[in-house]
Amino acid sequence: MPVKEQLQYESYIQEVPDFPKPGIQFYDIAPLLADGAAYSSAIDDLAESLDGKITKVAGFDARGFIFAGALALRLGVGLVMLRKPGKLPGATETVSYDLEYGSSALEIQHGILSETDTVALVDDVIATGGTACAGIELLQRSGARILEFCAVIDIPELGGSARIQQAGIAVRSLVQVGRHDGKM
Ligand code: AMP
Repeated sequence: MPVKEQLQYESYIQEVPDFPKPGIQFYDIAPLLADGAAYSSAIDDLAESLDGKITKVAGFDARGFIFAGALALRLGVGLVMLRKPGKLPGATETVSYDLEYGSSALEIQHGILSETDTVALVDDVIATGGTACAGIELLQRSGARILEFCAVIDIPELGGSARIQQAGIAVRSLVQVGRHDGKM
């Protein structure tokens, strides 16, 4: 069987200094999304170890939805939204958390997940892990089993992937970037 060549995702990610605030190195996924083959390859690679193992994908508001929705379609499973406050109707569960730049909160609708679900959480970037850990807590409250957390980009030096692992959740990312090591 031919071995599939791994795409060099680094070349589809734009590094933007001092955005959205001074001192923040922003990793922009727009070039990856704008290239149909690269976007599709990212979804294939995210889907690789998940086929047949999950009942739902949980995506993070907002850029996480871009990958989570496509991944759910590719795997033939449902999509669950983890949204910023005030966006979801009906009864919700809320967790507040700190961001690399600012603070926020995430919500999930009551009853959208149950103990019978096995879920992969998906976001574009893992930075400090605050967003990820808030999502993990929401899913744990729902009773669903978490298979893994996956992201397109991990910034390991910000400690997020280590935090997720410390919470007992497996982490997978397509590309690891560093802010000062010249990798990007
Ligand atoms: P964190 O909670 O610190 O792990 O931040 C992760 C979330 O914030 C993801 O949903 C990203 O979309 C966004 N984010 C944080 N830092 C960056 C960054 N340096 N570049 C791009 N997106 C980021």
